[in-house]
Amino acid sequence: MKKRILLGCLALLILMVATGSAAYAIYRPGFVYRVYIDGEDVGAVASIQGYTNILEDLLNKEEAQVGLNLKFAQEISAQRELQLKPRADEAHVKTALAARVSYSTMGWAIVVNDESLLWTATQEQAQEVLTQVANFFVHDSAKCTLVSTEIVDSVEICPQEVVPEDIWAVDAAVDYILQGREKTETYVVAKGDSLWSVSRSVNMSQTDLKKANPSLAKSNVLKTGQVLNLVVAEPKLNVRTVEQVKSYEAISYSTAYRYTGKRWFYQSSTVTKGVSGKKAVIYKVEYANGVETGRRIVNTEVETQPVTKIIEKGTSRWPSAAAGKFRWPLNTGYITDYFGSRRGTHGGVDIGAPTGTPIYAAAAGTVIISQWGPSYGNYVKIDHGNGYATLYAHASARLVKPGQWVSKGQVIAKAGSTGNSTGPHLHFEVQRNGTRINALQFFKP
Ligand SMILES: [Zn+2]
Repeated sequence: MKKRILLGCLALLILMVATGSAAYAIYRPGFVYRVYIDGEDVGAVASIQGYTNILEDLLNKEEAQVGLNLKFAQEISAQRELQLKPRADEAHVKTALAARVSYSTMGWAIVVNDESLLWTATQEQAQEVLTQVANFFVHDSAKCTLVSTEIVDSVEICPQEVVPEDIWAVDAAVDYILQGREKTETYVVAKGDSLWSVSRSVNMSQTDLKKANPSLAKSNVLKTGQVLNLVVAEPKLNVRTVEQVKSYEAISYSTAYRYTGKRWFYQSSTVTKGVSGKKAVIYKVEYANGVETGRRIVNTEVETQPVTKIIEKGTSRWPSAAAGKFRWPLNTGYITDYFGSRRGTHGGVDIGAPTGTPIYAAAAGTVIISQWGPSYGNYVKIDHGNGYATLYAHASARLVKPGQWVSKGQVIAKAGSTGNSTGPHLHFEVQRNGTRINALQFFKP
């Protein structure tokens, strides 16, 4: 009895094992993980570890490629699922995910006046871009001292989620902000090019070419191989730069006059040459995007004072003494016009004196003319020998006759205003060999 039961149990066991293994061969129930991207089924993986591995692989590969910390832009999830006959295909899931997934990264936006201008990978890079932009217009010169440079617009740096393609490199971001556009267009100067010909061939005015190329402001001459910028920059940010500039400037000299009775009234000469002084002027100069908008003087230091130019002017209208063989033909009056005046046409010296004033022979000699002429009026001419002669014009009366000998100081006529004359005066000439010369050379002022 005991043996039958044992056999029966064994049979049952065998049957169970046999049927059990048959059932197992057909249904082997188990769990899989179904993967969804934004709700779309992309297949199943066998384990949660497999799922995580796929995501990590995708992310690591992309991160290595773009060099940024990324996350998936879509919602990706895995749900455990009981299957009678589990089917998992990790390779398929990976391919399907790779085809659908996109990435985002946390960028740092440069926000200008509440508008995101561009993004950099890190906060430090965004800061660096702004620093470079602010410093771009600073002059690199020994003459300038930077006072301040600042971006005038309201600028913020904010973290924002963006696609990796929107992340800018620092240099490109700086160029973009300064140029106002992404690409610069250039023209390489060829042999024979002129500003005019380039202007025509690139369809840009010479004014704009100069704006885009500050180096052309000083010279219109182009050099072969020179690269011209064809884009007039329209910076995305407004940078205000203040610099202190030291400039050496001339102090102009003044002119002073000194009067002396030791020169004739029409004579003057420079006795001290004027010399400009020198001063160091310190300006505070303001620039808006590199263009000067104002300057004011903050300090002036005089390095050398100017030297005043001194001009000595003569005042003498009456000779102090004779300096030769002639005596002065009048005893009263003063010189009103000099030899060589009226653009060099005046051939004598005019001495103002009242009508009737005696006129004396300047030296002894023979009267060769005593007559009336349309210009001279009543005039007398005396020959003194050795090529010298004197002439006395505009007289009111003539007291000598041609051929008459006169002594030095003899009254020969009376002053008047005859002929081409506007008032009573003596027109006194000295002639040497028929040429009129300055009578005053025979007198001291
Ligand atoms: Zn005259």
